Amino acid sequence: QVRVRFAPSPTGPLHIGGVRTALFNYLFAKKHNGTFILRIEDTDQTRYVANAEQYITDALNWLEIPFDEGVGKNEKFGPYRQSERKHIYKKYIQELLDSGNAYYAFDTSEQLDAHRKDHEEKGKTFIYNWHNREKGRLVNSLVLTADEVQKRIENGDKYVVRFKSPQDETLVMNDIIRGEVKIDTNVLDDKILFKSDGMPTYHLANIVDDHLMEISHVIRGEEWLPSMALHVLLYRAFGWDAPEFAHLPLILKPTGKGKLSKRDGDKLGFPVFPLAYTNEATGEVSRGYKEDGYFPETVINFLAFLGWNPGTEQEIFSLEELVQSFDLKRVNKSGARFDPDKTKWYNQQYLQSKSDEELAEIFIPVLKQKCSDEILKQVQNDKNFVTKVVGLIKERATFVNDFWDLSSFFFETPKEYDAKASKKQWKEGTPEIMTNLISVLSEIEDFSSANIETIVKEWLTTNELGFGKVMPPFRLALVGAMSGPHLFDIVELIGKEETIQRIEKAIS
Ligand code: GLU
Repeated sequence: QVRVRFAPSPTGPLHIGGVRTALFNYLFAKKHNGTFILRIEDTDQTRYVANAEQYITDALNWLEIPFDEGVGKNEKFGPYRQSERKHIYKKYIQELLDSGNAYYAFDTSEQLDAHRKDHEEKGKTFIYNWHNREKGRLVNSLVLTADEVQKRIENGDKYVVRFKSPQDETLVMNDIIRGEVKIDTNVLDDKILFKSDGMPTYHLANIVDDHLMEISHVIRGEEWLPSMALHVLLYRAFGWDAPEFAHLPLILKPTGKGKLSKRDGDKLGFPVFPLAYTNEATGEVSRGYKEDGYFPETVINFLAFLGWNPGTEQEIFSLEELVQSFDLKRVNKSGARFDPDKTKWYNQQYLQSKSDEELAEIFIPVLKQKCSDEILKQVQNDKNFVTKVVGLIKERATFVNDFWDLSSFFFETPKEYDAKASKKQWKEGTPEIMTNLISVLSEIEDFSSANIETIVKEWLTTNELGFGKVMPPFRLALVGAMSGPHLFDIVELIGKEETIQRIEKAIS
């Protein structure tokens, strides 16, 4: 049975790298009829941020990849916050101490700094492990007598519990994405597992919980690959079967050099967070994909392609299709370059595929902020009107946020006319032609785009009027610029009365 977890630390808003990890876990779980678990890894109290956990759940819900099991949901393996599981870790660290797989260390930070400095001066890296050459200088239960250790603990001396990594062993491990990974255990630090404040470190809590929560596959970011050896060794020390591991490739800057960071987004004008986020301490607001007008489907689709590909030409995938096609074996080892233009392209694709009604629903709240009450009343009376407007302009849009700029003239008379276009298109004879155009228009009974077009064109031919003399100033009067959809579609939609009023206003 597949059981996977997304295990973020609530230290701030979730970066899209984290969201990608959540997504790949979700896809893998759904593909194998498994369970997707959310576990909150909040053992590092110094980095805890109060609203971060809520942010994580909000983001997963917005993207429609909710967890099956976690805080407040199917809690059979709970609690799901590590800060509420302290008593559990205590028991397991004792087990490791008893079996000789862990030891107490009393070195002060000054002592450790001195060792580190010593090494640096000799051009070496300091590795804290029980069998290294520094043995005599390190203060731990492997060199002290049992009595001495007991006394120090009773004294209230600060200590940590470290893992006792094996000496002279080549550890051979497997990663689903990377294949065989080998490591010489002599290069491993004896990592801290537990501190005298009663808190476990990430490594211990993570392994104990993955075991107790019966996690079958650990799918996480590449930054955790160096921890895999310790984790495998911990499973062995406990006598537990290790889950399978899959380490996802890094997400790289648009240049392809280095890891994508928030600063890259700020510099190039794209968000790196799913939802906007206000840092309560600094007041700084970070942009979010949601608020920038991206659809959740867009974010899901572009994130899926950061490190994975279907092996075909298909680029547009619904969440359902991703579940069907997803395979960890098709995830790349090498970093995935983030391309902000591609994310926009995806949004444009999804926007074009949505119905005019659906888009109108999203556009209406925007309109409510832009328009006068009077116009709004009109628009609200005729919801169809907004839908029709959307139908005419959407092909030029990437975001619903673009709609207002593309369509404001449907809702209000142009306040000004594009100066360059006026100079070029509004000539000496224009007012007279426009006056005649008004007479033609006012006679038309069937005020539909096609019919208006036929009649106006007939009038042009009969009077030997050039297209260029009439249509550009006509458009200028209605739109205020030379842009916009097919002119007669605009005329039909805003109606006879408004069309004539706008031409009159332009003449005066
Ligand atoms: N809490 C770790 C993180 O913040 C989880 C790493 C893991 O999945 O093992 O990424």
